[in-house]
Amino acid sequence: MKITGVETFLVPPRWLFCRVATDEGIIGWGEPVVEGRAETVRAAVHTLAEYLVGQDPLRVEDHWQVMAKGGFYRGGPVLSSALAGLDQALWDIAGKAYDAPVHMLLGGPVRSRVRMYAWVGGDEPAQLADGIAARLEAGFTAVKMNAGGRAAPLGTAADVREVVGRVALARDLLGPGRDVAVDFHGRFTAAGARRILPLIAEYHPLFAEEPVLPDRPHVLRDVVTASSVPIATGERLYSRWDFRPVLEAGVAVVQPDLSHAGGISETRRIAALAEVWDAYLAPHCPLGPLALAASLQVAFATPNFLIQEHSIGIHYHQGDDLLGYVLDPEVFRFTGGHASRPTGPGLGVEIDEDAVRRADKSGHAWRNPVWRHDDGGFAEW
Ligand SMILES: [Mg+2]
Repeated sequence: MKITGVETFLVPPRWLFCRVATDEGIIGWGEPVVEGRAETVRAAVHTLAEYLVGQDPLRVEDHWQVMAKGGFYRGGPVLSSALAGLDQALWDIAGKAYDAPVHMLLGGPVRSRVRMYAWVGGDEPAQLADGIAARLEAGFTAVKMNAGGRAAPLGTAADVREVVGRVALARDLLGPGRDVAVDFHGRFTAAGARRILPLIAEYHPLFAEEPVLPDRPHVLRDVVTASSVPIATGERLYSRWDFRPVLEAGVAVVQPDLSHAGGISETRRIAALAEVWDAYLAPHCPLGPLALAASLQVAFATPNFLIQEHSIGIHYHQGDDLLGYVLDPEVFRFTGGHASRPTGPGLGVEIDEDAVRRADKSGHAWRNPVWRHDDGGFAEW
């Protein structure tokens, strides 16, 4: 079997899909994207495709090595995300060629269902309460929310009280048998996080995410030891080498994104590395159907897996949903807050190619919001 071509599709709300064709008619799909930089990743995918076309698609690991390292310059969000989507597509082809879901090629399932968490948005307590009620109604046993909005480097007592109040309200609504995770988005600084974390510890969050920005793992240990709250990070880390310092700093949960951190191949290795530090895998995934399908394949085959994110109903994506690009939305029907084991070959999801080609005609130009502090200075989003 030989790869005959690679196409890319820029689809709303903010995603990029790739389609890898072969001379035997097997098609592999992947999702190579950095949110807000989709066109940049698209260019990188087509550069890597120059190498892939004409190759045997079943040599997934060898292609990973060449695509990751063969350009001399390596890593970072753009190159690692381009690689990630193509790696997903090659695993999709392999699964279809062997007529098996990818998790069977990774050693078979190690669990019978996968726990999912759902986002709750809203900056007001009433919105938060409505969001949590809706997720409970849908059967979820865990939610994640932002700790707060735009944050001063060292917040006032009122700022801190607001964060603590949100976590307390969530705990009150969820009761002791469900979970709330809190995403700091790198907005609070290390010192700010050290002040907040001990105050939210009594509400037993599942984890606190990105308490500091990803480029400063050297301050993470102080944050980890500031409270009993488990610390999570990793949506802006791209390889096992990037994850080593945060694991050494003592994070409890690693969050590689299947579409950023080198795909299925590298996320498997990051999970194995995390196990050495007794850390668990909770892949980041506010993305589309292929990223989520790839995440679920890894979740079913990874012993130290904790919980999976998904974007259905997320506040970023009003009006567009990943279910609009699949022929078999049942794959993403969650029961009691859990995903069932996918049984279809490859990534286990059937892409609605007509819908994808239609969506690509209008494309998108999604960009991250740019926030400013009251004095006009740049603020973390
Ligand atoms: Mg996050």
